[in-house]
Amino acid sequence: MNVLVINAGSSSLKYQLLNTEEKTLLAKGLCERIGLDNPRLKHEASGKEEVVKEASMKDHGEAIKLVVDALMDKDHGVISSMEEIDAVGHRVVHGGDYYAESVLIDEDVKKAIKACYGLSPLHNPANMTGIEACEKIMPNIPMVAVFDTAFHQTMPEKAYMYGLPYEYYEKHKIRRYGAHGTSHRYVSARAAEFLGKDIKDLRLVTLHLGNGSSISAVKNGVCVDTSMGLTPLEGPLMGTRCGSIDPAIVPILMEKENLSTSAIDEVMNKKSGVFGVSGVSSDFRDLEEAAVAGNKRAQLALDMFAYQVRKIMGSYIFAMGGVDAIIFTAGIGENDANTRARICDELDIFGIELDKEKNTSIRGKDADLSTGQSSVRILLIPTNEELMIAQDTAAIVGTAK
Ligand code: ADP
Repeated sequence: MNVLVINAGSSSLKYQLLNTEEKTLLAKGLCERIGLDNPRLKHEASGKEEVVKEASMKDHGEAIKLVVDALMDKDHGVISSMEEIDAVGHRVVHGGDYYAESVLIDEDVKKAIKACYGLSPLHNPANMTGIEACEKIMPNIPMVAVFDTAFHQTMPEKAYMYGLPYEYYEKHKIRRYGAHGTSHRYVSARAAEFLGKDIKDLRLVTLHLGNGSSISAVKNGVCVDTSMGLTPLEGPLMGTRCGSIDPAIVPILMEKENLSTSAIDEVMNKKSGVFGVSGVSSDFRDLEEAAVAGNKRAQLALDMFAYQVRKIMGSYIFAMGGVDAIIFTAGIGENDANTRARICDELDIFGIELDKEKNTSIRGKDADLSTGQSSVRILLIPTNEELMIAQDTAAIVGTAK
């Protein structure tokens, strides 16, 4: 089945066309600056050069139309008619407590996505624009919503509730929802396959470490805890997000710096994290370089990141009563051997032993980075959220037909 995977942002739209039987990527691309000046489409058919097209994109509808045209283009296209797209899978950031799984999109699903606007004011409306644009351009093609929060819906109450008056949960649904669920689900399933074990027999800690970072505890195949909270701000400090801080800092800073609610929100989301601490960059490659050159704050930011991730990982191992495998994924998890080494440093006493040689030499594929003596497997599993979205979509549309 050919599935078009759409990840719509407020002024951007990423897409991939995948074949789910072959697990192959046919084409991918990105529409940028939708509704703004100088919009453009970057499109790349597998094995071919990227093409960049500047064209009017007043809204997401026009963007989708350009995407479909690019996919059918006689020079850099990969299909000859729209009928070759069997289904569309949409990444939707927030499914609230409505969805614990992916779902075929109908009017009720759209209502639920809208009901979660308050929980994800930037992403859900953008995701909806993508859904509505596809409905208009491809009215007869079935569509599936794949939620970033769905995998975490199995968390027990004691893990998802905050220590706030219960009425705020009842009135405003204030609780932990988590994010990156599609990635955590994908890598935990791949890890079980890689180990040749039934996921129901495993206790896993999945470390999705990228621009945004989250850690999950996956016990017997279900998520039992995750570090992102009501919003993606909670957890370790990230590229530009502050991560978990003493909540009293918020009113104190608002008063001292005369910040409005949106200004403090901007500080915590865009100006903090390793970027805010180092004053150098949010990119770990820049930080490593600066640290080697003697920049102390860059080194501090790197140390803080590994320390915070390690503490969360440790708490999840205790929460699950042990661990069989630790999984590194996403931009930092997959590529930054130094950060992996910092996170796993001196944990041999717990049976967690990273093989230094493997850690620095293996890249870009599923691999076991632990030593022969390590009783806990330390795995590198490159994530593939788009493939997961495509596979969910194919499974749901296949059964619905
Ligand atoms: P996003 O959350 O935007 O999807 P990614 O998972 O793509 O982010 O991760 C992006 C981050 O990964 C970059 O900001 C950078 O910090 C880190 N990264 C990517 N490649 C490397 C590398 N070779 N070494 C260290 N860090 C890397």
